[in-house]
Amino acid sequence: MRKKTLMIHGGISVDKNTGAVSIPVSHASTFKQEGIGNFQYEYARTGNPTREALEALIRDIEGGVAGFAFSSGMAAITSVFQLFSSGDHIIATDDVYGGTFRLATKVLSKFNIDVSFVDSSDLKNVEKAIKPNTKAIYVETPTNPLLKITDLKGVSKIAKANDLLLIVDNTFATPYWQNPIHLGADIVVHSATKYLGGHSDVVAGVVVVNSDQLAKDLHFIQNSVGAVLGPDDSWLLIRGIKTLALRMEEIEQNTNRVAQFLVNHKAVHKVYYPGLDTHPGHEIHKTQSRGFGGMISFDVGSAEKADQLLRKIKLFTLAESLGAVESLISVPAKMTHASIPKERREELGITDGLIRISIGCEDIEDLLEDLEQALSE
Ligand SMILES: *Cc1c(COP(=O)(O)O)cnc(C)c1O
Repeated sequence: MRKKTLMIHGGISVDKNTGAVSIPVSHASTFKQEGIGNFQYEYARTGNPTREALEALIRDIEGGVAGFAFSSGMAAITSVFQLFSSGDHIIATDDVYGGTFRLATKVLSKFNIDVSFVDSSDLKNVEKAIKPNTKAIYVETPTNPLLKITDLKGVSKIAKANDLLLIVDNTFATPYWQNPIHLGADIVVHSATKYLGGHSDVVAGVVVVNSDQLAKDLHFIQNSVGAVLGPDDSWLLIRGIKTLALRMEEIEQNTNRVAQFLVNHKAVHKVYYPGLDTHPGHEIHKTQSRGFGGMISFDVGSAEKADQLLRKIKLFTLAESLGAVESLISVPAKMTHASIPKERREELGITDGLIRISIGCEDIEDLLEDLEQALSE
């Protein structure tokens, strides 16, 4: 099946018992056994039919061996990190999602799991960071909010040569545009709260793995730790994914137009968008992703200018999160990345004048008009 078809017919798209084309929401927490041990489902933390349909769908759209759904992106990422043990070392992209940075530095550190942050857009930094106890490389591409690109095939070669797992947070690119497993990743994670859900109405996380062993290990963690996604949210996510292709195509066109507009605007100092041929990761990104996504960051020079823009903007909603049908705007330094210390933010380029926008599916002319009036003096 081709991409667009897969979004609609992947996984279990028709209910086996009734033929319903929308998978029923199964609220049962437990299931009758025909005899002891003779059952299809046992207990809903271990397996739930609605969640199972979602997990099969996400497996298919990422091209892996098995999928797993969790109660949030962070629950998914935490569960993946629970595959590791005290004493293990992990190398991660330096401008990972703020919550992932906080998890690594404030929580995993308590369990003696050590995470080194390197600029993985230069693979030499990854190689240099490998230690005898390194077990995995954790990559985001494009990153949040600077949209830096890591060469997935290149980093997967390093991972394989050193017997490390390659984990990719694919939230920004989405499985419609980019499939890290096809490029050598072992595990793909998503905050499904973003593009997969797509309507700002569900908090969820998903994981896809590329081997039976990882599937067994992660199911063990999912069932033991219990950060599972509920049936209503699983259903919402299945519904969201059915239109992922349509939304991403529309968002792609809108985002291209907005990027061109910002590049040519005199109040904008710098634009970060992998679709610009001046973007340092542009060529690599094109080899591994079919689209550039809906995220743009741009620098207006100061916190005051950023405040002015936010006061004037009307259609872009000031909010955390991204990946929805409605366009969103945020100031990473004060919002999503506030948990990163200021010195480190400045080091990374996350200045007080940096604005991040998530382009939605509104009419492009309305979006451009709104940006124009908000950027004018
Ligand atoms: C939002 C986000 C997360 C965390 O997901 P939640 O669903 O908010 O827990 C992880 N990674 C990236 C790239 C994100 O944007």
